[in-house]
Amino acid sequence: MGKTIIISNRLPVQLQISNGSITAVPSVGGLATGMKSVHKGGDSLWIGWSGLTDEEIPNELVKDIDKALAAHGAAKVNLSDKEVEGFYYGFSNRTIWPLFHYFLEYSEFELESWNTYKTVNQKFADAILEHADNNDTIWVHDYQLMLVPQMVRQKRLDISIGFFLHIPFPSFEIFRTLPWRKEILEGLLGADLIGFHIYDYERHFLSSVRRLLGLEVSFNEIYLENRVIKVDSFPMGIDYKKFHDAAKVHENTDSNQQSELQQRLNQHKKNDPEAKFLLSIDRLDYSKGIAKRLNAFEYFLNKYPQYKEKVRLVILAVPSRSNVPQYQLLKKEVDELVGRINGEFSTVSWTPIWYFYRSMPFENLIDLYTSSDIAWLTPLRDGMNLVAKEYIATRTHKTGVLILSEMAGSANEMNEALLINPNNFEQIADALNEAINMPIEEQKARNEVLQRRLERYNVEKWANSFMNSLQAQKNREAYNISKKLTDSLLAPILKKFEKAQKRLLFLDYDGTLAGFHVDPKKASPDEDLYRLLDELSQQKNMELFLVSGRDKDTFEDWFLHKKYNMIVEHGVWISRKGEKFRMLENIKNDWMENIRPVLESFVDRTPGSFIEEKNYSLAWHYRKTDPDFGNLRASELNTVLTSLIANDDLSVLNGNKVMEIKSSNVNKGRATARVLGEGDYDFVFAIGDDWTDEFMFQELPDETVTVKVGRQKTQARYFLDSIGEVRGLLQKFVE
Ligand code: UDP
Repeated sequence: MGKTIIISNRLPVQLQISNGSITAVPSVGGLATGMKSVHKGGDSLWIGWSGLTDEEIPNELVKDIDKALAAHGAAKVNLSDKEVEGFYYGFSNRTIWPLFHYFLEYSEFELESWNTYKTVNQKFADAILEHADNNDTIWVHDYQLMLVPQMVRQKRLDISIGFFLHIPFPSFEIFRTLPWRKEILEGLLGADLIGFHIYDYERHFLSSVRRLLGLEVSFNEIYLENRVIKVDSFPMGIDYKKFHDAAKVHENTDSNQQSELQQRLNQHKKNDPEAKFLLSIDRLDYSKGIAKRLNAFEYFLNKYPQYKEKVRLVILAVPSRSNVPQYQLLKKEVDELVGRINGEFSTVSWTPIWYFYRSMPFENLIDLYTSSDIAWLTPLRDGMNLVAKEYIATRTHKTGVLILSEMAGSANEMNEALLINPNNFEQIADALNEAINMPIEEQKARNEVLQRRLERYNVEKWANSFMNSLQAQKNREAYNISKKLTDSLLAPILKKFEKAQKRLLFLDYDGTLAGFHVDPKKASPDEDLYRLLDELSQQKNMELFLVSGRDKDTFEDWFLHKKYNMIVEHGVWISRKGEKFRMLENIKNDWMENIRPVLESFVDRTPGSFIEEKNYSLAWHYRKTDPDFGNLRASELNTVLTSLIANDDLSVLNGNKVMEIKSSNVNKGRATARVLGEGDYDFVFAIGDDWTDEFMFQELPDETVTVKVGRQKTQARYFLDSIGEVRGLLQKFVE
């Protein structure tokens, strides 16, 4: 097994320069902890920016820094002041961050910072390429590095790459406003596995991929020409034990050993044992809804005046991105609000809001968590929100109430909390009232469930389950029954082909020999294809059949003069060597007049869809419709048709963006098996791309060489990735 390379904007160590020497101190953040089991020993490397720009690193210390980082299994990417400005403060935090948190009005679309983002992503990718071997596993983290997966993939086709987004992925309607939306999606699709905190983000991402790139998506897999990408949700956990144990230690600390903050908190508790402490901890970020929370607090005090002097709101706002103007404005707004509300409600013995604008050491965080009766977290939008989980982990007696915004990713797993809409002041005020009066037994019952879940799915589990899933994705091909038809697998097949006395080839047309077109009539054969088919069909000992679901008139136009053998309309008609089509199956089409109006009603209600009428079947095409809407309508139509045709001998075929209704007696498998039975063939080959071709793969005898185009599930023995590869293979038959 190769090594693991982790890439994130910042390294999990902090560099400190003092007196001309350098020290690297490990950070204690959630990601660093979670990755512990992944980032261990000599078989892993963490690549990121050190936090010091080129201008800040004295020349003579460069080597020392590399050494200091290497001791922690880390390597740095060098960034200049200008790069940090454009890439980090610029594109990452003034474009992506606000946009992905639904603050469309704060998003700046600056070409220059986008260009810097690209340059810096390339620097990260280059750093990976410098260190990576082909059997290594790469894990790229977060929104600052969304182009890195593709940049690495271009150079290392087979390397295993995972990507995890730590912030929300917004709905398509928001994401589409980004001028570089396609580039971002394509950048991410370089990965084999793309992870999100929750299913909603995954769903938005898949929808954007379908709509903006027009790619085939099935459940949570995206099909690219030569790869399958898996998308999944992995809700990030916390280091539960660390918080829980710290809270226990805290509980048993003598009061004279306690921190100054704790002693102050104790004093207030002593003065008024009935008063409740409400706590909120966030980075000072507009997505956290701090200003709104203050307004809601004022609303609460007016609606429930009995709690004046009986509640105290402790707000810890951690300074963040203070170079970005929006954050400076927010700081001003929050300062003013705290001042105004305190001015309005304070009494001689009571200040309703305690406001800290700083970051606190771990011990003080534990002081705050353990001393608070209620944690009140109301982000307007938050990828996960770990503070909510940390608060619950510190509840050693299972008491305490969590009020949490339903806009936080963590709300998905924390149903036992009081979930609120951060914009609904009425609901928030009532939730605070409920929390203050919640019976101890109920608090315990709720927290018991929450704690069990958080303890089980901790941050280490999160990291491991992502890595296992990435590994499984890598191994996927090995377990697939269908194997990529590589040169080495092809060699014995070509030998058999050469030696054969009588060869039979079944070739599907659309998606196999020619690409799809929104108007099926326009997907006509090109000159190269004619030449290839001419050469093949003129070979000695060769019977070549085009096998298609298309109507016979189109194939007559395109191929009859070429005298190729053809089976069309899934096996209704057959033509050999330029003879007119004759019916292969005797079937009826009197059912059509009943089904046509049903399809027409779907056409009316589904813009872009249309009906194709064949002699013995009806097809409803929806390639031109909005992909999500088209799929929805297709499954609706499927339900309607299934009940309608139950008593007739009809079946519904789900092809590639087309649903076809036809007689059950007819399919490509039956037709090709009949042709096969008429001769004495010693080499049989069948190739096709969609669901209707699976009938051939199933019906034809085991020794048939069956090939699927694309990586979807199949009964075929082999697969190829593209029409280009199919033509390449057929060319080999010619040679
Ligand atoms: N935190 C911290 N120092 C502080 C306040 C908070 O290290 O003074 C930590 C807190 O324990 C939590 C993290 O910062 O682990 C905040 O994570 P969260 O997911 O809640 O929000 P984010 O800042 O990632 O948006």
